[in-house]
Amino acid sequence: MAALRIVVAEDDLAIRELLVHHLTREGFRCTETGDGPSTLRAIRAGADLLLLDVGLPVVDGFDIVRTLRREGRGLPVVMVTARGDEVDRVIGLELGADDYVSKPFSPRELIARVRALARRGGIVVDAAPVLLRFDRLEVDEAAREVRVDGVDIALKPREFALMLQLASNPGVAFSRAALLQAVWGFDFDGDERTVDVHVRRLRAKLEDEASLPRLVQTIHGFGYKFARC
Ligand code: CA
Repeated sequence: MAALRIVVAEDDLAIRELLVHHLTREGFRCTETGDGPSTLRAIRAGADLLLLDVGLPVVDGFDIVRTLRREGRGLPVVMVTARGDEVDRVIGLELGADDYVSKPFSPRELIARVRALARRGGIVVDAAPVLLRFDRLEVDEAAREVRVDGVDIALKPREFALMLQLASNPGVAFSRAALLQAVWGFDFDGDERTVDVHVRRLRAKLEDEASLPRLVQTIHGFGYKFARC
């Protein structure tokens, strides 16, 4: 069963990273967005729950909730509001948001609210983190570790997320654009070469030519896939 997919819509990068950090650690799958249009796109592409900053650029949080409800989408929405902003909360709840958390939020409270809301909406919360075992390689989402022959290889957060994305789908070819979207988020501003740079780093850290075959294979003119090892 797949983990709950949460769209984290927040234009303040520091807050968004914090949200994603805590949610991912609990086993939720996060898609990051930083403005209204990309948030709507991410939800239409498939999501179970929306964590929504009220003050998003282009289309604000209220309009997003309005649009979603007009489209008949019943996915639970948790609004993230500024501290003490009673008006925002009331408007949000009236428009059809299901709950809210106030900044600065406590991670524990946030996770509890997300879980409660998912349960109330009848969504099966299977937040069991992924543990992938291959011949000599393990990808352990709970510990955020990639191990080769039992030895933890130090990866940066994006490198880990990229590895998790690829290794969760062995043999599946991903385009660079698909990897950017899955790992960096819908509104990532960078270049597809970012993916190449991270694949190169992963290979350098994980693939000792003498002992391991190519884990991450290049699909020329397209992208990458993970090969079982
Ligand atoms: Ca904001």
